[in-house]
Amino acid sequence: MLYQRSSQLFAEAEKVIPGGVNSPVRAFKAVGGTPIFVKSAKGAYLFDEDGNKLIDYINSWGPMILGHAFEPVVDAVIERAKLGTSFGMPTALETEIAALAVSMVPNIDKIRFVNSGTEACMSAIRLARGFTKRDKIIKFAGCYHGHSDSFLIQAGSGAITFGAPNSPGVTQGTAKDTLLAKYNDIENVKAVFEANKNEIAAIIIEPVAGNMGCIPPSKGFLEAIRTLCDESGTLFIFDEVMTGFRLAKGGAQELFNIKADIVTFGKVIGGGLPVGAFAARNEIMNYLAPLGPVYQAGTLSGNPLAMAAGLEMLKALNADAQIFERLEQKTAYLEKGIAEKLTANKVKFTINRVGSMISVHFDEAPVTDFQSASRGDNETFKKFFHGLLQEGIYIAPSAYETWFITDALTYEDLDFTINAVDKIAKQL
Ligand SMILES: *Cc1c(COP(=O)(O)O)cnc(C)c1O
Repeated sequence: MLYQRSSQLFAEAEKVIPGGVNSPVRAFKAVGGTPIFVKSAKGAYLFDEDGNKLIDYINSWGPMILGHAFEPVVDAVIERAKLGTSFGMPTALETEIAALAVSMVPNIDKIRFVNSGTEACMSAIRLARGFTKRDKIIKFAGCYHGHSDSFLIQAGSGAITFGAPNSPGVTQGTAKDTLLAKYNDIENVKAVFEANKNEIAAIIIEPVAGNMGCIPPSKGFLEAIRTLCDESGTLFIFDEVMTGFRLAKGGAQELFNIKADIVTFGKVIGGGLPVGAFAARNEIMNYLAPLGPVYQAGTLSGNPLAMAAGLEMLKALNADAQIFERLEQKTAYLEKGIAEKLTANKVKFTINRVGSMISVHFDEAPVTDFQSASRGDNETFKKFFHGLLQEGIYIAPSAYETWFITDALTYEDLDFTINAVDKIAKQL
């Protein structure tokens, strides 16, 4: 496959956009080469500016769980746009999607919509701090909660890839209120709690980590944190920007049967438009302006086009009783196929998977936290990435990213991918 026009477009973009991209991972720095410029997409496929067709395993980093250009979403956006694209005033549509989201997700009474996952997480910790009247938060090494200052303390994928875990521009003052813990290490979490008794407003976690590859929580880990939170008046925040409406209707809370105090959303909830949200029980949500003292706002929050897209997406997921099982089966099939081919070709690897989130690591040791995720062989990953790309298969351009399986993928697509892995594995 040739990428001439993409290279040319990238060169033009670099002149007027820093690094040629509006989000760093898109620049292909971790894998080399130049990024692919997309012209259109439909179902499981991307069509690029050079006329190549690619099977898409990233799906806009998650939102296109039912495939690209999903008709109910596209139609709703077109119809809504004709009625006006933004008012800065309430619409009935906002209540409709809020009510549906609240009915699908356990343990939440109210939800507020914002424009990105970053905004959702940033607002969630402000709310937690206001509610508990405490300053400190705990986050886990390798977990990503967007690019707001408080979270750029050894953040996930993007920052790891660029070797800048602590971004310049984040002040010491901000950093001192973010405490770091190790994922899947409850003794470490206990020690952090112990050293900061009654000072911790919230602990925020990706209930399945997805920004250092896909890392499931070890058995009992989330439950043990729940207990620590209950004992110390700390709020437990599930960042479900990735897992929400993906692992189950009710996300990780439903999958693991654990109650979070605040939940954040993004990605799937917007159906491919810029949407984030955070939600909690009444007692906490009523602490937000205009009811309560914690301020949070947005000119385009609850935007009608974005809400129309999100509503159609949630409706489709809610109406399909088999969707999450079907996604699980497709992803398990892919996992098994890839594992067989890599094993047959004597490649050292680990595959992690939860539902439709999957990652391939080029190291034999189990990948359970940021440290073990960092041990993977990046040179092998680069060859794997470019090998797949040549076969017309697009995976994330970084070894620290999860693949997001879409229901639009057919078993023929999966078999094609597994056979491509066999071919590439012979050269690894
Ligand atoms: C993508 C992501 C975010 C940030 O969302 P944006 O919409 O990119 O700001 C936050 N948390 C998690 C877990 C994510 O995967």
